[in-house]
Amino acid sequence: MRVRNKPWAKDRIEENPQYVATNPTEWHGKWQQRFEKNQPLHIEVGTGKGRFITEMAKAHPEINYIGIELQMNVLVMALDKLLEEQLPNLQLILVDGQHLTEIFDKGEVSQVYLNFSDPWPKTRHAKRRLTHENFLKLYEQILKPNGQIHFKTDNRGLFEYSLASFSQYGLILNQVWLDLHQSDFEGNIMTEYEEKFSKKGQPIYRVEACFPN
Ligand code: SAM
Repeated sequence: MRVRNKPWAKDRIEENPQYVATNPTEWHGKWQQRFEKNQPLHIEVGTGKGRFITEMAKAHPEINYIGIELQMNVLVMALDKLLEEQLPNLQLILVDGQHLTEIFDKGEVSQVYLNFSDPWPKTRHAKRRLTHENFLKLYEQILKPNGQIHFKTDNRGLFEYSLASFSQYGLILNQVWLDLHQSDFEGNIMTEYEEKFSKKGQPIYRVEACFPN
């Protein structure tokens, strides 16, 4: 996602350590302490402008959420939404997802969301895809046994790659949608990208997968 540089983004983030941990590795194994209630933790990697994670946190007060984003100029938009809503069950982290195991302890997370992840279509960039086996290894370490990955995208190439990557890794594909918006799936929360692409008439693909015990 390309966004304009926001010179004020760094200050805004630093002024709100109650929502964006200054040094996230310090909270390894202790993320529950940053929330009002001790309850299952779901994370979104590549949270973008934060609509999905904010709406999920509003709709599911019984879950704690963390949105993870590597671009400061993007994360600050998610932070603005959180500041407006003041949600006790949502935190944000400014970090590259490749550091997930430095941030979360084994089994600390119950579910991982990946929404409209960058497709990185060139083969030489495959390792940057958030569904590459190197990332699956990280998710496997931080997820509880039988922990789930919920992934949606408009990009057919990335979807096919991800289904193959999941099954080659040994993940169980619990359910697959080839046109989410025309299905009977209930409770879908649209991301910013999802709205943009579905308005163009593109089908949205979705998969729920889990690691075997
Ligand atoms: N999920 C949002 C949505 O659906 O509207 C944003 C989608 S955007 C195409 C992908 C986002 O993932 C970008 O904001 C990008 O900076 C972020 N991203 C890509 N690779 C990442 C990584 N390794 N760690 C954290 N964020 C990442």
